[in-house]
Amino acid sequence: MMPWVDPWGTSIPPDYAKLMREFGIRPFEDVLPRIPKPHHLMRRRVIFGHRDFERVLDRILENQPYAVMTGLMPSGGMHMGHKLVIDQLIWYQRTGAEIFLCVADMEAFSARGVPYEKSRKIAIEEYLANYEALGLDLEKCNVYFQSKSPVVQALAYSLARKVNFSEVRAIYGFSGETRLSHLYYPMIDVADILHPQLETFGGPRPTVVPVGIDQDPHLRLARDVAAKFHGEYGFLPPSSTYHRLMRSLDGKKMSSSNPKSAIFLTDSPSVVAEKIKNAFTGGRPTAREQREVGGRPDECVVYELCVYHLLTDDDDLLEFRRKCESGEVICGECKQRVIELMDKFLKSLGHKRKSARSKVQRVLGRMEF
Ligand code: SF4
Repeated sequence: MMPWVDPWGTSIPPDYAKLMREFGIRPFEDVLPRIPKPHHLMRRRVIFGHRDFERVLDRILENQPYAVMTGLMPSGGMHMGHKLVIDQLIWYQRTGAEIFLCVADMEAFSARGVPYEKSRKIAIEEYLANYEALGLDLEKCNVYFQSKSPVVQALAYSLARKVNFSEVRAIYGFSGETRLSHLYYPMIDVADILHPQLETFGGPRPTVVPVGIDQDPHLRLARDVAAKFHGEYGFLPPSSTYHRLMRSLDGKKMSSSNPKSAIFLTDSPSVVAEKIKNAFTGGRPTAREQREVGGRPDECVVYELCVYHLLTDDDDLLEFRRKCESGEVICGECKQRVIELMDKFLKSLGHKRKSARSKVQRVLGRMEF
C-alpha cells in the first residue's frame, strides 16, 4: 500500500500529532527553551517536530561546526511556501552552520520531465537569485547541481550496496509499475543528505535537514543508511526538523505547477492583490455577523501569510489576531492591509534580486558546467 506521506504526492497531512507518534518525531517545543534567539517559525510552532535536533543544538551552543542540508527542485517558480525553508537557512547560517544546497535537477528530470538546461535556468533565475535577495549568503554555501556532482552520484551508488528493494518499497510504496529512475532517486537523495559528512567536506558531523513532513521518507531512509555505513564512513544519523506546510490560497496544498495556488516571489503587484482578494479566509457569511462574533484566524490563509512571513514581530501578530477575533477588522479591510504588506515585501525583494544576480553568477562561476 502506498504510504500517504509521499514526497511526490499532493496530500496534506491531516493530523501532525498522529504522524509524530507513528514515525517517532518528537515535539520541537521540547528543545525550544534551549535555543538562543529562536526563529519566529520556531517560536510559533510552525516548526513542530524534530529528530535528534539536540545534537545540532549542542554544536550551536558550543560554537562548533555543523551542517545544514537542503535541496530545491527547479520545476516551477519559487513561492512563499518555498521561502519557509530559506528563512530557516538564513537563521542557521547566522548561527555558524555550513549550508549545503542541492539543485535537484535529476529529480526534476525524473519526476517532472524537466530538461537539465531548463532546470538550470529556473534554479538560477527563480531560486538562487531569490535566496541571495532574501539574505542567504550564497558565497558561503556549498551549492551544487545533482547532475554535475560525481561525488554525490558515486556515493549514491556505493550506499545502494546495502539497501534492498523491500526496504525502499516499505518506505515509498513502490510497485511493479514504478519507473526505474524513480526507484533509484531515493539513493541520490540519501547521498545528498549524507555527503556533507564525507572527509572531503570535513568528515562526520551533525547535520540537520529542515523539511516539510512530506519529505520524511527520505530522512527515514537516510538515517537507516547512515547506521549501516557508520563503520565505513563514520556517518552520524542526520537530524531533521519538520515544519507545517503552507496551504494554498484556496485552503488546499500549494503547488509550483498551479500559479493560482500560491503567491510567487516574482508575481506583479496586481496579480498579488487579486490573489489575496480571492483567498480563502476564516470570515463569516456577512459583515454584520463578523463584526458581532469575529473571524476565525486559524482557518484563514491570509492570517497564515502573516504568521509565516509578513508579521515577524510577535506583538504585531497578536494585535492582528485580536482585531480579527474581536470583529474590530473584517476581511475586506484586513486583506487590504495584507496586500500592502506583501507589496512592500515583494518590491524590496525585487530590488535586491537585481543586485543578487551578479553574486549568483560569481558563485556559479566557481562550479564546473
Ligand atoms: Fe482572515 Fe483577516 Fe478575515 Fe480574520 S479578518 S478571517 S485574519 S482575512
